[in-house]
Amino acid sequence: MSIRAKLAWTFILLLIFGVTAIGSYSILFIRNYLLDEGRKQIVNDAEWLAITIENLRTGENFETNLNEAARTSGYRLAIYDEDGSLFAEVPYHEQLQASSEIDPSIKEQLDTQVQKTFFDDPGEDELITYARVQSPHNPARYLKVSIVKDQIYQPIKTIRWIIYTGMFIAIGLVLLVSMLFARYISQPITQLETAAKNIARGKTNQTLNLDRKDEFGTLAKSLNQMAEKLQSDNLALKRLYQKQTQFFADITHEIRNPLHTVAGSLEMLQMDNLDEKQKKKYLVTAERQTKRIDRLFKDLVTLQRYDSDNQFIQKKQFDIKETIQLVVDQHEQEAADKGLKLKSQKKSYTVTADPDKIEQVLDNLVTNAIKFTNVGTVEISAKKVDDRVEVSVKDTGIGISEEHLDRLYDRFYRTDKARSRDKGGTGLGLAVVKSILNSHGSEIFVESEPGKGSRFWFHLPAK
Ligand code: ADP
Repeated sequence: MSIRAKLAWTFILLLIFGVTAIGSYSILFIRNYLLDEGRKQIVNDAEWLAITIENLRTGENFETNLNEAARTSGYRLAIYDEDGSLFAEVPYHEQLQASSEIDPSIKEQLDTQVQKTFFDDPGEDELITYARVQSPHNPARYLKVSIVKDQIYQPIKTIRWIIYTGMFIAIGLVLLVSMLFARYISQPITQLETAAKNIARGKTNQTLNLDRKDEFGTLAKSLNQMAEKLQSDNLALKRLYQKQTQFFADITHEIRNPLHTVAGSLEMLQMDNLDEKQKKKYLVTAERQTKRIDRLFKDLVTLQRYDSDNQFIQKKQFDIKETIQLVVDQHEQEAADKGLKLKSQKKSYTVTADPDKIEQVLDNLVTNAIKFTNVGTVEISAKKVDDRVEVSVKDTGIGISEEHLDRLYDRFYRTDKARSRDKGGTGLGLAVVKSILNSHGSEIFVESEPGKGSRFWFHLPAK
């Protein structure tokens, strides 16, 4: 059975039960009330009926007047004489005939008691009251006033009819209202169920529009958020997968190229008619390409370690001036060979970082600066900015145009692939720089103008 039907049936059954209970209780209550009132009434009425009968004179009109009194009062009247014998009874009814003699105990009680009337409840279908009559005009001495209880209960029939009609109308109305209400309640459940099924099937691009301020609205909102989260997670996974596929394709490509060159050089070296100069040239080429593969693997291993091991960084306090000097020493010759000026500032700043890793960052940046500068200067400097030290590597080289700046730190991204490989680049230098700085909670920044030069910089916490 659907939730909707269950709800509707619950309402209907509850209503039938409720209305029946209230109706039965009301009828019972009214019945008792009518009987109580009937009892009081019959005693009062018996008194004035006795007075009326006392005033009747024996004769032709006696029977007529008696009938009239019975008719207007609605009671059955039986009149007994001095001896307790029945001498008049109105209206006549075969089944309800009064006994021809009044009960002696009742007669005695009426004779002896002070009150004029006596209510007798034999617990039968009738209410009976006896009254004493004392008249000089007729022989009536005892009056029996009776009424069948059904007659007292008469108004209940009308009330019962009203209750039953009301009950049917109410049930009809509730049936209608409960169906509408059950629909109102169950509609969002059905919508939520469909949405949940869709999410389970992987359809996460649908939004559930439930404009409700109750728990269903909250649930719909949560489902939408869940779908959104799943969708973005899926997208991220897809991107990760694409990135990884691209990464492996790049690695294969990066290794295949130098391997081909090495294989070519070895092939040439096998030729007999090579002079010493040519042999040397092929040997140098093979060696350069082997070194490039070696550097590539080293960079890959470094990157992989930064990706997986947060403890890789071991911070301590050191003077950045010394690290800068180390890098300058390593690259002085190389710069001089190209006719470039390698400058560095001589001011001391104590920073908190991993000195070996920062040296690698500077080494990569300076290597690039020298690699991509043909004339001019490469300058490494440091300055204090607030509570941080800004370290920058500036060159007067070929520069980088705007469109490349965003992707510069992607693995294997180069603005000019051929030129980079030519210069022994792996395409991983800046990716390594970014990884190291990110592990320090820092960022790498760049500004560049094609033809004029570039400046790379980052911040380290000062002591
Ligand atoms: P590569 O091994 O090719 O140098 P990097 O990740 O270090 O790899 O650099 C990526 C690319 O960024 C380089 O190929 C080059 O195109 C560009 N680049 C990096 N530094 C500079 C610079 N100082 N001047 C001009 N271009 C640069």
